[in-house]
Amino acid sequence: MNEILYLVIPCYNEQEVLPETSKRLKAKLGGMIAAGTVSPQSRVLFVDDGSRDTTWQLISELHERDPLFSGLKLSHNQGHQNALVAGLTVAKDLCDIAISMDADLQDDVDAVDRFVAEYQAGSDIVYGVRSSRKKDTLFKRTTAVGYYRFLRWMGVEIVQNHADYRLMSRRALEALSQYGEVNLFLRGIVPLIGFRTSVVAYERSERFAGESKYPLKKMLSFAVDGITSFSVKPIRLITTLGVLIFAVSVLCLLWLLVTKLFGHTVEGWTTLMGSVWALGGIQLLCLGILGEYIGKIYKEVKHRPRFVIDQLLND
Ligand code: UDP
Ligand code: MG
Repeated sequence: MNEILYLVIPCYNEQEVLPETSKRLKAKLGGMIAAGTVSPQSRVLFVDDGSRDTTWQLISELHERDPLFSGLKLSHNQGHQNALVAGLTVAKDLCDIAISMDADLQDDVDAVDRFVAEYQAGSDIVYGVRSSRKKDTLFKRTTAVGYYRFLRWMGVEIVQNHADYRLMSRRALEALSQYGEVNLFLRGIVPLIGFRTSVVAYERSERFAGESKYPLKKMLSFAVDGITSFSVKPIRLITTLGVLIFAVSVLCLLWLLVTKLFGHTVEGWTTLMGSVWALGGIQLLCLGILGEYIGKIYKEVKHRPRFVIDQLLND
């Protein structure tokens, strides 16, 4: 088979892991090329997402020493998803198959063969799915399970326990490029493409070195994006809530009238304060949800580019 394979690796301040990652990827991809599984034009494409450490220096050195390594430098930090989209957009015109993978070796490099085997068996998209989450903290595990359930309930189809370790064929990449949203949430968009898909289970390890670039705050905003990009259910919920509260208040009014007519004036301080706080809270929450969507529209309407390329090293 002579397909060109690109391994697309977004990197943000990854100087601690890059030497090891490049070594393992070279062993893997070099081996596949030697075995004739993929074309000698296959490459490891490191996308430097505006790192502030020596990541880009390391990538350029790798490229100089070995043409197996390509580098794409974004003009500034655009976030994991956009860095991935940038890499995949560039790869689309250069390869037949692209596999996206994290730089920190959490995604099992040895699973690459199985991804390619699935592609050869006819799949256009292959999802890497974690076989277990033993290595995760209890907090991450429980929140992840809850989040996937919540997304399902919101009507967002998403592959369970799949991060961004995935293979896409060239035509899947071309289809992806037609999704014009500025804020792409790949895990939600890719399943919308269709085509034949399959799954490869892998053991997710701990980060090789350095620290996570997804602190809780970023993770939360990623989670909210995942919901608001694909579901209008939260807005519907607001409407439902509004109707319910209105119904309850009508009942309350009736009850007040009845008590008034029969001469029982109730003190009702607790109820009064309780409902003031509860209603205030609900209103703020609803405003917040609406604000999320309006913010989203605002961002999309401006139609800014998802990424700006500073430099491409590829030969
Ligand atoms: N990353 C990126 N831009 C960012 C943040 C992260 O390109 O703004 C990359 C990072 O270098 C890594 C991948 O995205 O290759 C996943 O990040 P990380 O491993 O820190 O996330 P976690 O695995 O902890 O969820
Ligand atoms: Mg990681």
